[in-house]
Amino acid sequence: MKENIFKIFNNTKSRFVELHDVNIEMKPIPMYLATMNCRPAVTSFLFPFKKHNYIISVNSKKNFSRYSIPIDSLNETMVTGWFAHELGHIVQYQKMNRGEFIIFPFKYFFNLNFRKKFEIEATDIARKIGFGNEFSEVEKFLRDDERVNKKYQERFKKFYMLD
Ligand SMILES: [Zn+2]
Repeated sequence: MKENIFKIFNNTKSRFVELHDVNIEMKPIPMYLATMNCRPAVTSFLFPFKKHNYIISVNSKKNFSRYSIPIDSLNETMVTGWFAHELGHIVQYQKMNRGEFIIFPFKYFFNLNFRKKFEIEATDIARKIGFGNEFSEVEKFLRDDERVNKKYQERFKKFYMLD
């Protein structure tokens, strides 16, 4: 998986035509609070009028925890589906105006309805590009694999799945 993950990322990104000119760095690092996340690079916040750069971080830790699962536990299809969801967020970020972009982290943190809508929309964007089956594999894994922490499952259901 380790060597493969860059290839999987590039293949997934190449299908997001509207992101071809967007600079996105993918970094496997140990993470405590997420399995994957995506954020604008710090310079994007300092210079929000510039073209944005993004970082997608991928959890390189080996254990299942309340907040993350190891990326190594996922097969290639699932990693693809998950990347597609994160790239969906970048499509969302790209559509924001400067004000929306600056206020976004606060809204995401404090407004749980907004958070859910934002997560569901990212998956919808990925589905429209053709990653529906891949993301469904992720959903199935998180729901059914007994190694996945119960709290993690609850949070996933709450924010990532339609009621
Ligand atoms: Zn997300």
